[in-house]
Amino acid sequence: MNICENTCKRCCTKCNTHLASVAAKLALSGAEINLLQRPKRVFTFTIPLRRDSGEIVFLNGYRVQYNDALGPTKGGIRFHQHVDLDEVNTLSFLMALKCSLAGLPFGGSKGGVEIDPYTLSQAELERLSRGYIREVHNFIGPDVDIPAPDVNTDEQIMAWMVDEYSKIKGRFTPAIITGKPLELGGSAGRVVATALGGCFILQELIKIKNLNPGNLRVAVQGFGNVGANMARILDEWGYKIVALSDQNKGFYNPQGLDVKKILHTQTKKGFLPDEFEGVEVITNQQLLTLDCDILVPAAVCCQINKENAGQIKASIVLEMANDPVLPEADVVLFSRNVDVVPDILANSGGVIVSYFEWLQNSSNDYWTEDKVFRKLAEKITKAFERVWEKSQQENCSLRLASHILAVQRILAAEKLRGNL
Ligand code: NAD
Repeated sequence: MNICENTCKRCCTKCNTHLASVAAKLALSGAEINLLQRPKRVFTFTIPLRRDSGEIVFLNGYRVQYNDALGPTKGGIRFHQHVDLDEVNTLSFLMALKCSLAGLPFGGSKGGVEIDPYTLSQAELERLSRGYIREVHNFIGPDVDIPAPDVNTDEQIMAWMVDEYSKIKGRFTPAIITGKPLELGGSAGRVVATALGGCFILQELIKIKNLNPGNLRVAVQGFGNVGANMARILDEWGYKIVALSDQNKGFYNPQGLDVKKILHTQTKKGFLPDEFEGVEVITNQQLLTLDCDILVPAAVCCQINKENAGQIKASIVLEMANDPVLPEADVVLFSRNVDVVPDILANSGGVIVSYFEWLQNSSNDYWTEDKVFRKLAEKITKAFERVWEKSQQENCSLRLASHILAVQRILAAEKLRGNL
């Protein structure tokens, strides 16, 4: 198995490490481990893409439906030059765990195409998106496998994909894909769902710890969809945002940053303004070890490792990015009583609202943003409560507790189906 959000391939053994910990804790049988280690269905295919020049190139495409014991599989499609089957396979396993932990009626899947989409024109990108659907349309469906956006795929790509699927099937089928634009059946609130979900979890955690947002200093790594929205919401809720960063630099002010003004001055999505008055410019590495109470890695994987784990000063690390903390760092943080809220819980707001989108498409009944946020709060808070309780019962990290709960739900469904 291989996993890496940033495709740097540094954390390829991470999933096996997690699975081994759960297997040991739950004393899983050989058959149970075997079942969890194997994807249910793997599709590899070739997508012919006609370039604008008239030349045809052949691209490697993948779709892995890892586990469908709990329902139709759910997972994004990424376009990236380093995508390979190993990576798609592992990401699909993580989606199975994430959907299970959130209590959704979904299994897990993932898809990808090995291509740098920044080398394509808009017309080529559209042909590629439609080409992907032509290869998989017989193996996906609203009750079978439901794709969504992932790295380098967005609302527009989902719009082309839902259109292609609907044309092939001869009827508009919005529930085939989530992350669509509102006009094509997307859900209100989807854009901020991941960040808001993380904020709801943080509120629950600080309630348990008897902490007050007004006294809490937060450092957020990443200023894209998740990081910027997270900083904005937490600032509005009274937390003190002391540091922010994009891929080039960070801003720090121990008295608190003017987040609203920074967002207002931002010229390019995902990037901080070139300069800003009254801040100290820091590096991403400095941000991680700043004197603060809450650290929110919301950029890329593999940021906290055994070299810097001992220097983290925050007592709460909220993993909004996928895989920002490496397993060896996890051990150090747990021994230092740092609460690490794992990615499969912290950033599950996105897939929860994707589920709401699928529900709305299936019933043709569209919800207000207020209703979406209320139901998100309810679902993600319950998931957090279950994890917290399990971690207390087992005296283990929130990550191990999350993996135990996710695996147990999948195995229970497999047993009931007679597969174990
Ligand atoms: P994004 O592309 O909108 O933003 C990424 C941010 O990270 C940008 O500010 C970028 O400048 C910064 N960045 C890039 N490389 C960096 C580096 N090496 N060091 C520090 N900063 C760097 O992405 P996003 O949608 O905000 O997603 C962020 C993370 O959250 C990813 O790991 C993603 O997989 C995860 N996630 C996102 C969603 C979602 O709904 N958007 C859902 C689940 C998980």
